[in-house]
Amino acid sequence: MAAGTAVDWREGLDAGDVSSEILVKTAFERIRRLDPLLGAILAVNEERSLQLARAADARLRAGERSPVLGLPIVLKDNLNWRGLPVSCGSRVLDGYMTPYDATVVDRLLQAGAVPVAKANMDEFAMGSSGEYSAFGPARNPWDTTRVPGGSSSGSVVAVAAGYAPLALGSDTGGSVRLPASFCNVTALRPTYGVLSRFGLTAMASSLDQVGPIAATAADLALALGAMVGRDPLDSTSSDLPGAERLASFRPKDLKGLRIGLPREYFGDGLEAGVRSLLEGALRVYADQGAEIREVSLPHTRYAIDTYYLICTSEVSSNLSRFDGVRYGHRAKGGNLREMIAETRDEGLGAEVKRRILLGAFCLSKGYYDAFYLKAMKARTLIARDFEQVFESVDVLATPVSPGVAFPFGVKTEDPMAMYLADAFTVTAPLAGLPCLSMPAGFTAGLPAGIQLIGPAFSDVMLLETAHAFQLLTTHHLEIPPPLSA
Ligand code: GLN
Repeated sequence: MAAGTAVDWREGLDAGDVSSEILVKTAFERIRRLDPLLGAILAVNEERSLQLARAADARLRAGERSPVLGLPIVLKDNLNWRGLPVSCGSRVLDGYMTPYDATVVDRLLQAGAVPVAKANMDEFAMGSSGEYSAFGPARNPWDTTRVPGGSSSGSVVAVAAGYAPLALGSDTGGSVRLPASFCNVTALRPTYGVLSRFGLTAMASSLDQVGPIAATAADLALALGAMVGRDPLDSTSSDLPGAERLASFRPKDLKGLRIGLPREYFGDGLEAGVRSLLEGALRVYADQGAEIREVSLPHTRYAIDTYYLICTSEVSSNLSRFDGVRYGHRAKGGNLREMIAETRDEGLGAEVKRRILLGAFCLSKGYYDAFYLKAMKARTLIARDFEQVFESVDVLATPVSPGVAFPFGVKTEDPMAMYLADAFTVTAPLAGLPCLSMPAGFTAGLPAGIQLIGPAFSDVMLLETAHAFQLLTTHHLEIPPPLSA
């Protein structure tokens, strides 16, 4: 994180030491200077952002004080922000301008946050590295020969490179947590329903959640507080218990906190360097009086299969709307059928096509029972594992990914290898649970995160538990060396 945390800027704005206009101009300067190399940004509307910044400054001058007022924020390009393109990292939406705001964007705007850019991403949020964007990959600011992680690649790079103190991504099976781990930032996937999905372009609706990204858990608390609350436009949304604690945010008292280590997450596949960072992080908790014990989530071994069956099934249904009739790109094609087929052929990338085909197959007559229905049953077993384990522990701690950021190209030829990067991030979403990734340190010069998973609607407790850790450590304050200038 190069340019100060959201909490720092909050104090600066409230004290009148800095203006929103200056923060937003600085964001654009950094984007102009750094983004030709990092590739995190797909679209900006500088004039609109500056207008919003000036409006925020007027509210500040009038004495208004609120958590995100005047703070720049970057939005993943699958979130709708009126009057800007929403590409979802895909050619199929070429030329499409959205006519409405996602609920989370609307709430941020009401609260005075200033969106500054739409961020690069894997096409339709399918991917773990950022390499499946139709517009070229974003790069990891810690080592630009390596992936930043995906699918919220650009949002995470924008925070890691200090374009803005806050960003929004989306997390279906790890897409804010995995890149956060690879780029040394903090990201929350809230309990399913805590943030409205209205205006988040659907990938797999039973799994998709909007997730805030920032340098610290305290920064995430600012952003989350501005967006929570049931939304009549999303029938799956709900209120967040304890949301008022986000406003007077305090670290969790760690004495007696029961932290479970699921043994299935610490097997042979875990790189030694990452394992020792986790051990170091757990010692920090133990030194403060947390009780650490081993637990078991026996159905974890079915998680990747279950996730990819359910995800692709939902993808095959959700993506049928991109047909050349309603949005973006339209192929020349002869009759309607040919036009739709050609639009999809020209507009969609290989990974998206692969998932549509796989999902359509899973749902087809004759295979539904063998694949989709079985996956739904496995999903229930995975959720039950968590219910049982949370009878004896308060929170789970796990790796985010088996390794650190990998070099470009090493997993793109082998879809299974890419899917396995998600082994530790897909389980909690299958159970609808909140989880976060925060910096745990560096191994061979590259960052790796630790994941905390909590019971449903324990989002605030999770952030407080992360905040307590960050008050005792400095990993999250490390800046990518090439950007420290
Ligand atoms: N990497 C996972 C996938 O490709 C998760 C993506 C996401 O969370 N959007 O499905």
